[in-house]
Amino acid sequence: MRKRIFPLVFIFRGSFRKPASPTLNAIFSGKIGSQTEAIVCWRPAATPFEKDRYDCFHGRPSAASYLCERGQQRTAQARRGTTAALSLIASAALLSGCASSPGHEPASDQSCLTGTVVYEHYDAESGSTPSLPAPSATWTLSAVDGDGAAVSATGSTALDGSFEACVDGGPIYNATVTVSAENEGVWRVVDTYDESTVFAFSSEPVAEVSGVIDLETLAAPDDVAGAFKAADSVSRLYAARGMDTPCWTPNLATLAECRPVVVSWNSEVPENEGGWWDPEGDKIVLAGADPSSQHLVLHEMGHWWSGELYGGWFPEVTGCEQHFVDHPSTPSCAWTEGFADAVAAWVLGDRAYVLADGTVTPFEAGEGLPWEGGDITQGNVAAAPLDLWAFDGPDGTWGANISLMLEHPSSDFREYFLEDRPAAGLSATGEAADLLLPYGIDYRG
Ligand SMILES: [Zn+2]
Repeated sequence: MRKRIFPLVFIFRGSFRKPASPTLNAIFSGKIGSQTEAIVCWRPAATPFEKDRYDCFHGRPSAASYLCERGQQRTAQARRGTTAALSLIASAALLSGCASSPGHEPASDQSCLTGTVVYEHYDAESGSTPSLPAPSATWTLSAVDGDGAAVSATGSTALDGSFEACVDGGPIYNATVTVSAENEGVWRVVDTYDESTVFAFSSEPVAEVSGVIDLETLAAPDDVAGAFKAADSVSRLYAARGMDTPCWTPNLATLAECRPVVVSWNSEVPENEGGWWDPEGDKIVLAGADPSSQHLVLHEMGHWWSGELYGGWFPEVTGCEQHFVDHPSTPSCAWTEGFADAVAAWVLGDRAYVLADGTVTPFEAGEGLPWEGGDITQGNVAAAPLDLWAFDGPDGTWGANISLMLEHPSSDFREYFLEDRPAAGLSATGEAADLLLPYGIDYRG
């Protein structure tokens, strides 16, 4: 049916559209093997903020090295001639974004603990429990020097979970690395039963460090692994959001100004006490099993992000106490829930919602048919934007839609399409209107 799969080969050969912005900045979704989707986005090396932290390459981390290799292959082919110059730039940018080490050797007069942070947690999308790197997690090195004075350093893990925690001089003593499920100013995962506590764990202390000691793998203990899993999903939206600011909205420019998203979770939270965005509490609340589903975490992030982009406004939603991808609800419910579903699907590169227990509900009914209800059904309102945003669709990517939300808050899909898209300079006729027809939505007349 209308399932859109973009094999990476295809992407690098020709489906790339030059973004309107002079900043090369794009998102690709792809499929590798039987079930590995990936999102890749990047910007050129010259960025206004810390490169290692914000250049984005993001896929399922297990696919990261594979994607880098594909980038190298494409670069080689591009050099042989036929591929567009822009693709060459794209591949080169991808490669630079794939750099897996922090990019410098520890100086000889430094004392360092190095390693890679990983977490192991059930993943509803793949139905497996892989060991994955923890990207963009905060690490803190704590130790004492020869005089017994405290020394410390802090930083972020790279996208492959690696870190080099160094202090000048040495040797240092009783050194530990603490890793927290936090990217300062951007997100933090806190304990529902003590929300002042960010989930974290520490390495065993090393009695004396002189030069570099490689701790190799630092695995999150089982009771905190869910926090790192949730943070990993959050990081995927962060990588895909496509902005020149470290914040979640373009109207905030520096890390100090950013409003971090707070995700509240504990493995003991019962199923009926989490799984939502809490606008009053200004946080996302997850039940114990919820981090298993990347779709669930990203869906709630979609709600929270909407609130951020709308500047604190949110549509008045009715008839949404219970809502389903495949059942009619109301215009406001289908719009807000469908948009959140679309955010998750866009980031993950699919067209479905996956529950924490692995249950999959596709956005389409099958056989080329939509779910009944047109624009009052969540699945239809989730699927349609994916076609508008598609790289070969009328919008090319979702960037202009995110900008639209800053200026033109929408109460339902009809308003978004017929009023707010034209107001933002996006098409609401022709190809764009025709793309809605398969979802039982006809706004042409
Ligand atoms: Zn929702």
